[in-house]
Amino acid sequence: MSEKKELTDLTKEELETELINIGEKKFRAKQLWQWIYFRGEKDFNNMSNLPLTLRQKLDEHYTITRPKIITEQISVDKTHKWLLEFNDKERVEMVYIPEKDRGAVCISTQVGCAMGCKFCHTGSQNFTRNLKVGEIVGQFMVARDAYHEWPSPTDETRYLSNIVVMGMGEPLNNLENVIKALNILTDCEGIGISRRRITMSTSGIAPRIVEAMQKTGVRLAVSLHAPNDAIRSKIMPINDKFHIEEIMKACAEYQKGDHSRYITFEYLLLKGINDSIENAKELVSLLKKYKIRALFNLIPFNPWPGCSFKPSDRKTVEAFSEILEKAGFAAPIRVARGQDILAACGQLKSKNDNRKI
Ligand code: SAH
Ligand code: SF4
Repeated sequence: MSEKKELTDLTKEELETELINIGEKKFRAKQLWQWIYFRGEKDFNNMSNLPLTLRQKLDEHYTITRPKIITEQISVDKTHKWLLEFNDKERVEMVYIPEKDRGAVCISTQVGCAMGCKFCHTGSQNFTRNLKVGEIVGQFMVARDAYHEWPSPTDETRYLSNIVVMGMGEPLNNLENVIKALNILTDCEGIGISRRRITMSTSGIAPRIVEAMQKTGVRLAVSLHAPNDAIRSKIMPINDKFHIEEIMKACAEYQKGDHSRYITFEYLLLKGINDSIENAKELVSLLKKYKIRALFNLIPFNPWPGCSFKPSDRKTVEAFSEILEKAGFAAPIRVARGQDILAACGQLKSKNDNRKI
């Protein structure tokens, strides 16, 4: 008996081809798509406008799978964290960060990460594998299930309004699947999250930035974390491969001719490493040199056991922000959320759930 095929791994076009190949009309694919992504239906038997014979055929040969919830925690500030498991027992974490009447879901793209950034908990474990298309989309669908946000809201009032591709893994190292997943998540006949409400963060895989942004149309965030190569290479090994100049050139290329394209530069403040006044000034010169339209997101470092970096003092962070702001760049300091449940940036760790801290 051959294994059943997972439908959430397929793009809309692939789903159409699949149905045509089993002798069905193309419009059936559209109906199926709406059941899966607009209504959030997981059971073929409930798809009432499909003929019984088709429902049975689908049930026999296909699956609609959600990642399995292993644990889930809600922080005092309502930040919600899930540990999710896929069919092969590999796990990732997902976080929902609620604001007043909206919120962002932070999704993962890989199990582990090969980039090995020195400050990142995910980076401290090895790369295991890329997530499949359905595993990326499925994370968001789990969050939708939890907040009962099916069928997809057709107006802008929704709890799960934004997506940040800032969980575990480097999205540009799993680009093919990430592009397909983002196209599914933004499809207006399904989940329908606006591309403007999705931000994808990269550690700076320079040669893939332009293609990634062209093919997804989402917002770009770059984890810069240093004003020069000497500091950056010390904390991000990937910088030896793609220097800051290459990243800046790719960013400039991406912004060419479209003034709405602002880039967010994430900047993690590590005590005594990258947080001096000189570092801030050098950062301003760097962005001015390449004429990048950008804003900063200053991230207080979230410590984790086994990592020797320390967060910068509040005063240092404020002084750093002030220099950037005076030079004309917005530079808000990110408020860490979900700290009591270790849901903050860079603290996600999937392999097992045996943290005893
Ligand atoms: N791999 C991508 C996206 C996932 S990481 C990237 O690196 O951009 C999302 C963000 O969390 C990045 O900006 C990353 O640098 C940051 N981060 C990693 N470890 C952190 C930590 N310990 N404290 C705060 N932010 C961290
Ligand atoms: Fe990977 Fe991003 Fe963590 Fe670096 S910061 S190790 S690129 S997940």
